[in-house]
Amino acid sequence: AIDVRGLRKSFGTLEVLAGIDFSVARGEVVCVIGPSGSGKSTLLRCVNLLEEPTSGTVTVAGTEVTDPDVDIDKVRRRIGMVFQSFNLFPHLTVLENLTLPQRRVLGRDRAEAAGIARERLARVGLTDKESAYPAQLSGGQQQRVAIARALAMDPELMLFDEPTSALDPELVGDVLAVMRSLADEGMTMLVVTHEMSFAREVADRVVFMDGGVIVEEGAPEQVIGAPRHARTRSFLARLL
Ligand code: ATP
Ligand code: MG
Repeated sequence: AIDVRGLRKSFGTLEVLAGIDFSVARGEVVCVIGPSGSGKSTLLRCVNLLEEPTSGTVTVAGTEVTDPDVDIDKVRRRIGMVFQSFNLFPHLTVLENLTLPQRRVLGRDRAEAAGIARERLARVGLTDKESAYPAQLSGGQQQRVAIARALAMDPELMLFDEPTSALDPELVGDVLAVMRSLADEGMTMLVVTHEMSFAREVADRVVFMDGGVIVEEGAPEQVIGAPRHARTRSFLARLL
């Protein structure tokens, strides 16, 4: 579903991604871990072209997004994105937050969009909140709305960038539970996270990044449980 080859990204003289090769197969869940500044967010942002790669190719669902002739809006439509900040529209209700993009971007009519919105809200356990405004919800609930909003667009894959790191600890579990159920349903997911137990239990593969390169990748029990590289070991040791 995602294929990244020879990806490099520099900001001025700072090389943030120094040659990244990796892929995510359909239905696979890949967690990206690594220290602050290692390039994890930049990698994710290159996948949906929020950042333009300096060189290399990125292919998403069969479309090379780095091809200058590509219709990037069309590709982005197929990619769900969830970030640390929830970015809900504060002046719209939860239901309206879910229906507006469906109507604007996919051209669904009001009734169809509302039906899909309610189904997605049920999936994240927020059926009773459809008339609430974002400010009336906890951070964890807002993040689940953000996930439901992404799901309402019927994405082929989902990108998550530290979706729980802005949340109070007691709210993290609900969001991870939603992500886990998505993974169980076969969603293709690329997840940047510091939640090692999530990565261990849910990821098919874990990628450890440091200094703009992939230092090691493999099954979670290998990368997290028995890391081969000293850099991976010292990163994991610092988390404990
Ligand atoms: P964190 O765990 O803190 O989120 P990260 O692994 O996601 O870190 P990135 O956000 O990808 O790291 O940033 C990697 C490096 O690129 C950092 O040194 C950062 O300062 C730099 N960087 C990111 N975006 C820009 C930008 N738009 N302009 C200049 N430098 C940038
Ligand atoms: Mg980041």
